[in-house]
Amino acid sequence: MVSDLININRTWKSSTIWSLYPAKEAKEILATHIPKEEVEDNLEWSLTKSGTFSAKSGYWFLHNKENDEVDNSKFWKQFWKSDIFPKWKLFLWKIWNNALSTADNLVKRKITKINPICCLCNTKKETLAHLFRDCHISQRIWSSSMGIVASQGAHLKIHEWIKNFLNLFKKKRKEEGSVMEIDFISTLWGIWLHRNEIIFRKSNLNPVRIMEIIKENINRARAKRSQGEIKADNAFEESHKDLQWTVGQSRSSNVQTLVVDGAWKKNTQTQQWQAAIAWKNLNNDPREEFAGKIFANSAKQTEAYSIMKALTDMEWRCTELIIKTDNQEIIRALRNPEKNNKDTDNIIKDIRKIANSVMFVCCKKVRREEVILAHKLAVTTRKS
Ligand SMILES: [Zn+2]
Repeated sequence: MVSDLININRTWKSSTIWSLYPAKEAKEILATHIPKEEVEDNLEWSLTKSGTFSAKSGYWFLHNKENDEVDNSKFWKQFWKSDIFPKWKLFLWKIWNNALSTADNLVKRKITKINPICCLCNTKKETLAHLFRDCHISQRIWSSSMGIVASQGAHLKIHEWIKNFLNLFKKKRKEEGSVMEIDFISTLWGIWLHRNEIIFRKSNLNPVRIMEIIKENINRARAKRSQGEIKADNAFEESHKDLQWTVGQSRSSNVQTLVVDGAWKKNTQTQQWQAAIAWKNLNNDPREEFAGKIFANSAKQTEAYSIMKALTDMEWRCTELIIKTDNQEIIRALRNPEKNNKDTDNIIKDIRKIANSVMFVCCKKVRREEVILAHKLAVTTRKS
């Protein structure tokens, strides 16, 4: 039975719906009453010392919006390491970066012939926040799967809402937090998969089906985790073309986009190296640019310097900065400082420090062709 689905050390009254006949289950989910506020003895997974969730401690974490910037990089560092399915990492990554193919995102990308209406409720427009949290069908799913009152977080951006929950689970005891993390992501996943079934396979809305998907994924994820099968999946990042490191949140105001590159070469005869860095500002025409020779020990260090130079030159001139590089090693080091590379560790540290003074910084790994303007400039300068 589905009842063990919510066997997460708590007693939420609605879980009894699972003892009903299957035919009735759909109706039951749709009829699930969503409480306006949690009642003390409903939930035992808790924030308070006593281990009892209380209405007073409420959803304080849903209001806890400060320290986003510092928090974000720490959060991601942990997140990429966590042992959940790589497909779930990609899925969450897409939610965070507003890259999931929801109707509103497709419209933004000028893809027409999209039904903008949520296929679960058929009334509101489909956005990430609506689909995963604000839709009344999804709210019933949250209520049934985890006892979460989704409407209480409606003032938050969807990625903050999700992040706050995942952070909350990290604060729990290890096994308990781990179970909740899986249940939580599985619920998001179940909503998404069923939404796709409706759109692409013309299935009818069936809340029970969503719960089945959730349950199935919870079981698989738990089994794998307990067998230790899911290790931090580096292959995932390898294959991830959109590798990036961000600080802060974009509000899309005064954004400058730069491409950077470094050119580094060791002369095999003299054993001496030559290096140059360059950036080019894609916002203006003729392109504003910088190029200069530098001292550097390695290609990686050269690339790190080029990012730092772009950042320090632009830091006072824009509120948001996008830096494109073709070097994924640097992005990886920025996301997850290594502390074992004497060439780059201190530069990485400085980049991270300076980045905090800009409202939003995104360093993005792009294909080589995209940085060609900076590349040519750096190579010419190195040879000069
Ligand atoms: Zn809806």
